[in-house]
Amino acid sequence: MKAIISDIHSNLEALQAVLADIQRHDVTEIYCLGDIVGYGPNPRECVDLVMKCNMVLLGNHDQGAMFDPEGFNAPAERAIFWTRDQLEAPSENLERKQGRWEFLAERPRNFKENGMLFVHGSARNPLNEYVFPEDIYNQRKMERIFALVERYCFQGHTHVPGIFTEQVPEDLYQFSSPEELDYAHTLDERKTLCNVGSVGQPRDGDWHACYILLDGNTIRYRRVEYDIETTIRKIYAIPELENFLGDRLRDGR
Ligand code: ZN
Repeated sequence: MKAIISDIHSNLEALQAVLADIQRHDVTEIYCLGDIVGYGPNPRECVDLVMKCNMVLLGNHDQGAMFDPEGFNAPAERAIFWTRDQLEAPSENLERKQGRWEFLAERPRNFKENGMLFVHGSARNPLNEYVFPEDIYNQRKMERIFALVERYCFQGHTHVPGIFTEQVPEDLYQFSSPEELDYAHTLDERKTLCNVGSVGQPRDGDWHACYILLDGNTIRYRRVEYDIETTIRKIYAIPELENFLGDRLRDGR
């Protein structure tokens, strides 16, 4: 059984709670779909933990921290520059620091395995494209993206978990939230996109950290409680991270 996590965003409390939950299951491999850093207060600690995963992709915030950030709003960009400073902090153990940079710099943008594709954003634009639930009404966009998926694609980036299924005759593209699926979905003959949700900054109205377990063809969504107030306090204490980045965690927005 695999665990697939994404969008940790330097939220150490959420990541630790998710890793503890993973340990309670029969998981042999952990995959991470990117955005280890950005927004939150513990970039170094989160990179150190994610380095132990079996497969880790590059996210747009990870890329922003290493290179010139493009296309981010002002608070996100400030958080990215602060993150870069943390990763470059002179007080840090040089070897660990270099190890983190090398690790981030080597991350691939996609990964394929047994007809399954893994990306941060979308099959069409692995790093930056968002596929939101309302995109099911954007026929052209969905057609193009589904055309690039052999069978199943696992993705993150929107922080909105759920399952997209392809158009079949007489039917439209469909999106189902974890709640609507009763937190489980079995992959079938239809092409499917699975958004695994966000560990460190869920935006579907549920503040619990989100990830999935993949057992054969069965996806199970996990929602995990964590010490959110500690994360929020840390964000408040860092001037470069705007307070609303903490407040939004409470609302899951
Ligand atoms: Zn993200």
